[in-house]
Amino acid sequence: MKKFFKTKYRAVMAVVLSLLVFSAYGNIVQLQKAGNQQQQVKELKADLKSKEEEYDSLREEYSSTLSQKADYESDYYDLSEEYDELEEKYNELNEKQNQKEEKKSAASYDTASSEAPSAAVSSYSSNHSDDSDVTDSSDSYSVHITKTGDKYHSAGCQYLRQSDIVITKSEAVQRGLDPCSKCNP
Ligand SMILES: [Zn+2]
Repeated sequence: MKKFFKTKYRAVMAVVLSLLVFSAYGNIVQLQKAGNQQQQVKELKADLKSKEEEYDSLREEYSSTLSQKADYESDYYDLSEEYDELEEKYNELNEKQNQKEEKKSAASYDTASSEAPSAAVSSYSSNHSDDSDVTDSSDSYSVHITKTGDKYHSAGCQYLRQSDIVITKSEAVQRGLDPCSKCNP
């Protein structure tokens, strides 16, 4: 019996020992895994840090781009404002040029249309428009036109500074002219 117990004891011890060895081995493997994981965590942290730095620099770049964009936009607004001003000046000069040309050819124009000489057109027509008008409709009142412009004006409109030609409104309408939006003839 004693020998039997001794043998069984040995067997049990062998089992226990091998269990211990296995579990120790398992622990070592787990420790190694944990070590690997720690290493991985370290690497991930470093990676994350570099990503954060990258993100920060990108954000900085982005905000500087934004402020650059704002600069460009304000430049653009300034330029477009300047452009509008220049365009307005250009239109004004163009209108003046048209009126000069019109003045040059006003004499022949008036002769051709058998009206008063150009020098006296304005005063003549405004003084005697009722006498010279053939029609008696409500459109028989005088309006002022320019030779090249496609609008008719009332007296004293800014577009008539260089010259103006007086005709009846009905004739202006016949010529396909539209009323000036500035002076509402
Ligand atoms: Zn006008």
